[in-house]
Amino acid sequence: MRKTLKCPKCSGVRIWVIERFRVPSDTSEGQELAVVPHQADAERSLFSIPRQSPRGHFDLYACDGCGFTELYARDLSTLVADPARGIRLVDTGEPNKGPFR
Ligand SMILES: [Zn+2]
Repeated sequence: MRKTLKCPKCSGVRIWVIERFRVPSDTSEGQELAVVPHQADAERSLFSIPRQSPRGHFDLYACDGCGFTELYARDLSTLVADPARGIRLVDTGEPNKGPFR
C-alpha cells in the first residue's frame, strides 16, 4: 500500500499516512513504537549493566475506506543481530549474489 497508495482490500485511494507511529504514554505526544525496544547498547552501559537502546520505528498506512492497515518498519540499518535476545536477520538470498542479476 505504501508504493501503490491504493488499498489492496477495497481498492480505496484515500490512505492515511502516520509517520513514526506512536502508542499512548504518560506524555500527550505518546511514545514512538520501536522495532526493537530491547536492543542492548554496550557503549552506554552503566555500572556494567547494559542500557537499552530502542532502534527503528514504524510508519503506518491506513485505508480511509475500510480501515485496512499496514505497518512498515523503518531505520532497520540501525538494528544489531542479537540471537540470545531474539533479534535475528534471516537472509535467504544466495551467497555472492545480489537481488539484481
Ligand atoms: Zn480499504
